[in-house]
Formats: sequence, structure tokens, C-alpha cells
Amino acid sequence: MGLRSKLRVQPGSKVRLKDIDASFHGDYTSAEHAKEDLDKNVARMTELQEKLYGEKKHALLIVLQGIDSAGKDGTCWHVLRAMNPQGTQVKGFKQPTEEELAHDFLWRVHPHVPGLGQVGVFNRSHYEDVLVVRVHDLVPKSIWSERYELINDFEKMLTQHNVTILKFFLYISPEEQLSRFRQRLDDPARQWKISEADYKERDYWDQYIAAYEDMLERCSTPHAPWYIIPSNHKWYRNLAVSHVIGKTLEDMKLKLPEPTVNLDDIRRKYHAAVEKSRGGN
Ligand code: AMP
Ligand code: MG
Repeated sequence: MGLRSKLRVQPGSKVRLKDIDASFHGDYTSAEHAKEDLDKNVARMTELQEKLYGEKKHALLIVLQGIDSAGKDGTCWHVLRAMNPQGTQVKGFKQPTEEELAHDFLWRVHPHVPGLGQVGVFNRSHYEDVLVVRVHDLVPKSIWSERYELINDFEKMLTQHNVTILKFFLYISPEEQLSRFRQRLDDPARQWKISEADYKERDYWDQYIAAYEDMLERCSTPHAPWYIIPSNHKWYRNLAVSHVIGKTLEDMKLKLPEPTVNLDDIRRKYHAAVEKSRGGN
């Protein structure tokens, strides 16, 4: 089985996160060892995004979810670094504003879905409405429990418009989270990221795991699969995510558009322009 199918949550399957090793790193022994493949994946993403941008027939939506410090920000950075900024956008979803809360839960999300030719990354997403909202009873169960189907239908509609959807659940262990919190405390460059909420949410770890499992089971569909990315090792996380993105872009059979002009004519015009500019000097 290839890496991509191994990471994908098969639609309809059960997910038990405690059976998954967040420190998994496949056959790679270290960041150095993985570097060659990572560089290849990144080069493939760069080349294929350029085609996606030129062709304007497909869009790619990448959804990132994971507990605090799982690496959503780092993954955004890593993915986007491979891509031409003209064809990409990132949208982070925070606590909803009053205006957002006055609308249905997909209202704030829909305008940020990438258009044809574009790659969009969601740093958190509509899935918060079956995660934090569920864990903290922000709406009654009768409401959030209907959202899985609503999300599947929404995503189905997007794929009908040639939006390919990739959803990555970045999975870290509670020990790894504590070690990342420690780094944040120790490193002045990371201290700005510390929030009280991170510690509060940590107390709800088991409830989050239950909510993640339901999300992964109920919303990994053939048209918009979830991938579980073991993320204790940042280098493996980047390798795995870039592998899945690269393979998915390859499957799209992207093609740069044919030139809209007659190239022989244009070549003649070019040579005439060269002649003229020489004559002018
Ligand atoms: P961060 O991603 O660290 O900037 O934090 C964003 C915060 O917004 C997290 O604590 C999320 O749980 C919270 N958040 C995002 N979406 C929602 C939502 N739909 N309802 C409530 N809280 C949300
Ligand atoms: Mg945070």
C-alpha cells in the first residue's frame, strides 16, 4: 500500500486514535534521511501548482485541523513556501464574530473556498463547528449532530465545481504537546503564541479525541477524504503532507493551456522588432 492510502481514512471505517502512533515516521530514520524525498515533493508541488494556476480548471482546498500546537501554522508555512503566492491564499478561522454567529455555520467559510486556478488553505475550518462547539456545548447536540451530513453535502457541492478537497488531521500525543508548550515558554520568538486557552483545552483532551474520531469517521468521504498525519515529528508531518498534496495534484492531470496566438506569426513579429531596434541604434 502506498503512503497516501495508508494515511487516508477509508470512508466508512472506524477510527481509534489511540491505536495510531503519533511518532510514526515510516521507513525514514531522521529529518536528514527524509530530506531528499521532501525536496522532491516540494519541487513537484511547485511545478504542478503553476499548471493549476495556468489551466484554471481546478481548485485545491487544503483543510488543516489538529489540537493546539499540532502544527497547523507550521504546515501552512511549509505548504505555501512551495507555491507561487499569486495562486494561493490562507484563511484562519477563529472564534466567530457576532455577525458570523448570526448566520449559518457555513456562511463564513464559503467565500474563502478557492476559485478555479487557486490553492486555498484553511487553518481550522467549518470542522470547528463539530469540534470546539461540541466539546464546549456551544450549541445543543441536536444541532451539531446534524452538521456532519451538512458538511458532507457542502463539500460534495464544492467538488462538483472541480474543487479537490484534502483534509489533514495533524495528530500529536499529549506528551508532545507539553513539550511544545515548554518550547513556547522558553523561546522568546514563540512566546507570543502562548494562550491560556491552550491549557484549558488540554483538560478536554479525551473529549476532543472523541470529537475528532467522529469527524474522521463521518466526514471522510470518497470525494473529500481525511488523512491522519502522525505529527510528533515535524519533518515527517511535512513529508507526509507534501506527499499527499503532490500525488493529488498529479492525479488531476493538469495541463498548461495551449497558446492563444499563432507562434510562427509571433516569432516573425519578434524578429522584426529585433531588426527595428538594431536599426534604431
Ligand atoms: P488559533 O487557531 O490558535 O488562533 O485559535 C483560534 C481559536 O478559535 C481556537 O481556540 C478555536 O477553537 C476557536 N474557534 C475557531 N472556530 C470556532 C468556532 N466555530 N466556534 C468557537 N470557537 C472557534
Ligand atoms: Mg492557538
